[in-house]
Amino acid sequence: MGLGDFFKNIFGKKNCDFCGEQVGMMSRNKIKNDAFICNKCKYNCSKYIRVSRFTKEELAGHIEYMKRQDRLYKEVVSETKVYTVPSAFDQQAIAFYDECGMFRIFDRHENKDQLVELFRYDQVASWEKYLEETQPAEAGKPKEFKEYGVKIKMLSKMDTTSELKPGTMPHPYIVDEMKICLSKKTDKPDYADNIVFHFDHIFGVNDNKKGLLSFGPTTAQKRQGEAYKAMGSMLVTAVKTAKNGEESLTEEKIAQLKEGMNKIDDAQTNGLAVYTRRANEAEAKIQ
Ligand SMILES: [Zn+2]
Repeated sequence: MGLGDFFKNIFGKKNCDFCGEQVGMMSRNKIKNDAFICNKCKYNCSKYIRVSRFTKEELAGHIEYMKRQDRLYKEVVSETKVYTVPSAFDQQAIAFYDECGMFRIFDRHENKDQLVELFRYDQVASWEKYLEETQPAEAGKPKEFKEYGVKIKMLSKMDTTSELKPGTMPHPYIVDEMKICLSKKTDKPDYADNIVFHFDHIFGVNDNKKGLLSFGPTTAQKRQGEAYKAMGSMLVTAVKTAKNGEESLTEEKIAQLKEGMNKIDDAQTNGLAVYTRRANEAEAKIQ
């Protein structure tokens, strides 16, 4: 290969392996096996994956997944109640859709062609706030505020270090931590606290704690009690069914059994199973 070919290979136009369009060096992204995806087709991919990690076939599967995500948002999730933090934002924000057990990330600087991506609560591994400061121009001066936000890790099939929370499952594509910048203007990271608080609530982090003036059972104890009650009545149904035959299982009894199973799931997952069921229901609507 001559030097001319060498430069042509780097700077010359190449075809996008997805749309076939000829694109220059600045408008394309290398993926595995010397294939390329153009910037336009990349809007069909998650912003939180590195395309270079994928083969053409894997990325094609991912794009199908993203198109379904976009439909799921537009046809189902966007119609439900939303809690956006911060509601007025200068960088990014998180929109929680509790009724569907999912969140999305809003980005002020996002391209309008970018497909919407939803993240299931039950795929979240961890969440924490961050604050970035820059070194002062002069020695001895205090550090200067740069930005703050939250870092969210999704459970990944490739990551074996994260502690598995009960009821969680791996995300099919996200590997890296997602850094969500909430503001570069204000150094009062209250909004990051609100997001951390909401994830704590979803995962029942403080459900073992009693309120300062509360003498009753904790949320976790209440769930535990509901689960025991459900197990008791399920046992009764099981014994009766064994005695009277399967025909004796009425629609009503079957519904009660399902309800009982849900109560047990809720207790075992600190309440997360509620959101898993909601996410499953939402996804089932667009299959
Ligand atoms: Zn393309």
